[in-house]
Amino acid sequence: MSEMKNKVVIITGASSGIGRAAAIKFGGGGARVALVARSGDKLAEVVRLIEADGGEAAAIVADVTLKADVERVVSVVVETLGGGIDVLVNAAGILKAGTVEDTSLTDWDHLMKINVRGPFYLMQCAMPYLIEREGNVVNVSSVNAVRAFPGVLAYCVSKAALEQLTRCTALEMAGKGVRVNSVNPGVTATQLHRSGGMDEETYAAFLEHSKTTHPLGRVGQPEEVAELIYFLASSKAAWITGGTHLIDGGRGQTCAR
Ligand code: NDP
Repeated sequence: MSEMKNKVVIITGASSGIGRAAAIKFGGGGARVALVARSGDKLAEVVRLIEADGGEAAAIVADVTLKADVERVVSVVVETLGGGIDVLVNAAGILKAGTVEDTSLTDWDHLMKINVRGPFYLMQCAMPYLIEREGNVVNVSSVNAVRAFPGVLAYCVSKAALEQLTRCTALEMAGKGVRVNSVNPGVTATQLHRSGGMDEETYAAFLEHSKTTHPLGRVGQPEEVAELIYFLASSKAAWITGGTHLIDGGRGQTCAR
């Protein structure tokens, strides 16, 4: 039997991309998956996919920037999915282009609220339950957390903050048996860049150019990142905490030239 059988797993950003792929992976592993995002229709489709495969899933429509929504996510999960929480995957996130000269305070605050405050408050609210079950957290960070790229200033800063949040929480919680890790993808084929404002033509050119910026010569697929998230959440990773785990086709090892 899969070790994820009946584990209660919360995944934010489960309506699309990496979160969606992770939800399907955990659902396939027998976990009881709580799927969190704002788009109810898309979540319902992922629930259907998981259930069609014999898995168990529930959609919770919520905005991770809203305190009351985050609190509701945790209480609904605990009340309806089996009395506790084993794994929290913080995958919800947004990207917005902008430099130090033109990033508006509105964009800055919005990025920080979704990419940093969201994971922080979810971890805080879920922590008593994670401690109870000696569970773990996987935060979906980015290669942009550890390398600087021009033109996506606030995004890079938000991911660097998430990285430090991961490390600090890992140290604070290690004595209580809770592990906390980051996965750090390079460019992955999802909606992120389009939702962030890229039109189709620019996105196609960006994907083509990404073949040269990723030494392995291609972008990643969300399912590849989901495999790493699943591994880190499993007992196979029982001695791994506070880690930055690049999954980026080698991008994080490159230097501009
Ligand atoms: P997608 O745009 O495909 O998915 C983003 C997800 O976040 C959606 O499910 C969206 O759901 C959810 N989301 C956004 N805002 C909120 C909110 N306020 N409350 C709740 N959910 C929200 O992008 P990815 O799958 O690529 O992104 C997942 C994570 O991976 C992000 O943290 C991103 O920064 C990171 N990442 C992605 C890379 C890439 O190249 N794709 C590279 C490195 C890291 P909804 O709109 O329904 O609320």
